[in-house]
Amino acid sequence: MYTSFQPHLTQELEAIKTAGLYKKERIITSAQQAVIKISTGEEVLNFCANNYLGLSNHPELIKAAKEALDTHGYGVSSVRFICGTQDLHKELEAEISQFFGMEDSILYAACFDANGGVFEPLLDENDAIISDALNHASIIDGVRLCKAQRYRYANAHMEELENCLKLAQAQRFRLIVTDGVFSMDGNVAPLDKIYALAQKYDAMIMIDESHSAGVVGKTGRGTTEQFDLRGKVEIITGTLGKAFGGAIGGFTTGKKEIIAMLRQRSRPYLFSNSIPPSVAAAGIKMFQMMAQTSALQDKLHENTAYFTEKMMAAGFDIKPTQSAICALMLYDAKLSQEMAAKMLEEGIYVIGFYYPVVPKGQARIRIQISAGHERAHLDKAIAAFVKVGRELKVIT
Ligand SMILES: *Cc1c(COP(=O)(O)O)cnc(C)c1O
Repeated sequence: MYTSFQPHLTQELEAIKTAGLYKKERIITSAQQAVIKISTGEEVLNFCANNYLGLSNHPELIKAAKEALDTHGYGVSSVRFICGTQDLHKELEAEISQFFGMEDSILYAACFDANGGVFEPLLDENDAIISDALNHASIIDGVRLCKAQRYRYANAHMEELENCLKLAQAQRFRLIVTDGVFSMDGNVAPLDKIYALAQKYDAMIMIDESHSAGVVGKTGRGTTEQFDLRGKVEIITGTLGKAFGGAIGGFTTGKKEIIAMLRQRSRPYLFSNSIPPSVAAAGIKMFQMMAQTSALQDKLHENTAYFTEKMMAAGFDIKPTQSAICALMLYDAKLSQEMAAKMLEEGIYVIGFYYPVVPKGQARIRIQISAGHERAHLDKAIAAFVKVGRELKVIT
C-alpha cells in the first residue's frame, strides 16, 4: 500500500510548499529566555515566545522541579485515578482554584486536552455551545466531539452572540465559550458584555485563559479580574505552557460539580498520563510566587505600554492591545516575511503571519512582550524596527 500512499503524501507536501505554508522548525540551543542562542551560533532577542512572565528559565522553578525529582521521582506511569495522583497534583489543583477564584480544578497533560475533554462529558444533543469564530483549534476540536448544537459568532461580535443566544433558547442548557485573549490581535474578549448577555439569555460561560492567565488584569488573574467578574463564570481552562513557566500541563477550573463530572467522564483525563511530579512542583512554586507579589505583571504591563507607545510614535500601525501581544499591521504577506527576515539579521526574532493564519490582506508581525525583557532589549528591538521599517518603506 505504501508504494501508492508515499507519492500521494509527497504531492500533498509539495502543494503545501507551493502555497508558501510549509512550516519549518527553528532550532534553539539555549534555554528559553529573552536572549536565546540559535543553531547558527548567533544570539538573538526573542520576541515570539509565550514566555510572558519570563518564568521559563526561572531559578526558583528549576530548583523546585529538581527537588521533586529527588522526593517524588521522574514519572508516575499511571493515569490519575489508578495510581497517578501524588500530593503534588492535589496541591497544584488547589493553587489553580485559588489563583482564579474558582471552586475546584482538574489537571490535564495540556490545555489542548482540557479543551478536548470539557464539552462532551457535560453537554449533549439537547444543549447548545455558542463559540467565538476565532477560538483556539483545541476548542473547535473539543466542540466537534460533543453532540450539542453549535452556534458561532464573529470574533467578539456581541450582536451576533445575542442572535445566537436567541436561537439557542430552543435548547436545554447553553454554554458560551471564548478565548480570553485572541492570539493574533491580542484583543481581550469583552467579558462584561458576554456576561450581561449570558445573564439576559440564561447561559453559562467558559473562558480559555491560555494567553491571558498571568498577563491580563492588574495582578494577572485573567479576564475575570480585568472585568471584575472573579468567580462569576462557570468554567476556565488554561495552560501551564505559556506564562506559567512554559513546560507542559493544562487545567480546567470551575464549579465543583462540573469538575467532579470531568473526573468521572473526561476522556483525556481518564485515559492519559498524569503530569510529571517535577512539573507539578514547579507549578506550585510558581503560584506561590504569584501569591506573594505581582511585580512580574507590573513589569510586563510597563514593558508592553512602553513598547507600543514607542512603536506608534515611530509611525507603525499597531493594533490596540490589552495583552502582551502586539500586532504590527503590514497588510502584505510578502512584506511580513521580508520584514521578519530583516529583523532577524538585526538580532530580533519575530514572526510574520499571513493568510490563512490571519484574514486575507491582514498580514502582520506579531510581537510578544515579556517581563523577562529589560528596557535595553525593548530599545534594541524598537531601533531595529525603525531601521528595517524605513528600509522597507513601512514608515517614513
Ligand atoms: C496555547 C493554547 C492552547 C493549548 O495549550 P497547551 O497546553 O499547549 O496544549 C489552548 N488554548 C489556547 C487559547 C491557547 O492559546
